[in-house]
Amino acid sequence: MEHEPVIGIEVHTELKTRTKMFCDCLNDPDEKHPNVNICPICLGHPGTLPVPNKEAVEKVILVGMALHAEIPAYSQFDRKNYFYPDLPKGYQISQYEHPLVKGGYLEFKLADGSERHIRVTRVHLEEDTGRLAHGTSDMGHGTSTVDFNRAGIPLMELVTEPDIRSAEEARSFGEELQLLIRYLGVSDADMEKGEMRVEANVSLRPRGAKEFGTKVEVKNINSFKFVEKAIAYEVKRQADVLASGKKVVQETRGWDESRGQTFSQRLKEGATDYRYFPEPDIPPLVLDQAWLGSIGARLTELPGAKRKRFTDEYKLDEKTVELFIGDADLAEYFEQVVSEMTEWIQSMGDRVERDKAIKLAANYLTVDFQKMRKETAAPVSETLITPENFAELMAMIYEDKISSAAAKQVLDHMFRTGGDPSEIIREKNLSQESSPESLQSIVAEVLASHEDIVAEYKKGKTNAIQALIGAAMKASRGKANPAVLRTLIEKSIQ
Ligand code: ADP
Ligand code: ZN
Ligand code: MG
Repeated sequence: MEHEPVIGIEVHTELKTRTKMFCDCLNDPDEKHPNVNICPICLGHPGTLPVPNKEAVEKVILVGMALHAEIPAYSQFDRKNYFYPDLPKGYQISQYEHPLVKGGYLEFKLADGSERHIRVTRVHLEEDTGRLAHGTSDMGHGTSTVDFNRAGIPLMELVTEPDIRSAEEARSFGEELQLLIRYLGVSDADMEKGEMRVEANVSLRPRGAKEFGTKVEVKNINSFKFVEKAIAYEVKRQADVLASGKKVVQETRGWDESRGQTFSQRLKEGATDYRYFPEPDIPPLVLDQAWLGSIGARLTELPGAKRKRFTDEYKLDEKTVELFIGDADLAEYFEQVVSEMTEWIQSMGDRVERDKAIKLAANYLTVDFQKMRKETAAPVSETLITPENFAELMAMIYEDKISSAAAKQVLDHMFRTGGDPSEIIREKNLSQESSPESLQSIVAEVLASHEDIVAEYKKGKTNAIQALIGAAMKASRGKANPAVLRTLIEKSIQ
């Protein structure tokens, strides 16, 4: 029987806030010394009182608004009771019945162009745990140390409905969510650093069936590539289990990247095991409408809207649009360049195709400029090239005043010195000769001194023209416009 995968995702994201969730300790993910950013509150000492971090609450609400979700006026923290050595209180402050965000959805496109709409169940706020490190002592005994710097860092948990139908889709969902979270400035969401962590719930059901099958939760997946691989593995494993007439066991599994396999960790615990109850030390949050309004006012253009605008307004291809969507600084610079090009585009009338000119600028930015930037690790915001000078160079390339080889030299010079392109071209004598009148004499000389090649060309070996263009280019010391040379050579031989 053919089965259909049913997948729901849970994503934990460490929020970028100044301080921790319930105390004044610094939230510094780059702190290398263990147990520096700690205090009696985040160490769970008895008698201490947690105070919720307003910045963290606002950030989760902002995410909810970006997901078109409901922000209930009433929200509450709960205790989730369980024991773990890196959880000194013996419980985690989380949210259960009354999360900050309910519902919402995220839309994105798959590689084949199909549009997906994944519903979000809830987004809530909780605290991160400490971090355990396991090793071996000099005596050969196993050792475990614990670092509480991470304990109490604000953690946002987002849960989706089981709307996802493939491993690829799960990966795309995660990537789109990461992009959104970065746009909102809520977190750097770096998976390698553990700032974003994904759990995938996977089940199979006969294609066409309404009811869901038994699900397995795959935990601790620390890259999107692994999310895709782990789900694909799990789908195959469950299909094999079902094909052999057995039942899928509801359990939590881990992902072993070196073997490319999921493995059983423990049988699934239910909500009742945690004995959730309202956190008695924190009063419920009653969210003020004016405050919500001020948070909503912070919503800027989000990736989905920007993607649509870049496609419609600049007529760029999908790959280029994605490059700009993934690099907001570069996208902003691009828009400044286009704006600087506008006057020139208008003044040229029929001699410029707007879309073609914009595409030229997009190419130089995403290819050549990006390459120089990456080599020097220079942020876009610190580039010496003003958008005005960049636009001027694009106009000169478009109008054939300079060859593409020379343009790269000029761009390189601009990148290092910040100079004006027309001055650099004058100084370095790089302007391109496009006038047939002045190139005709060079062509005549080249044809006269390469009779053998001309003869070959006449015999039908049309490729030979490359050699003639090359010779003429050399004679012009690289300054001739190759397209004009080609036309002149063809005309002359005929
Ligand atoms: P649990 O109580 O086991 O945590 P939840 O109902 O809270 O289960 O759902 C957790 C996640 O699992 C959600 O993302 C949800 O969409 C997903 N999920 C629920 N049932 C299934 C299923 N049968 N197959 C795949 N995913 C599921
Ligand atoms: Zn603290
Ligand atoms: Mg759950």
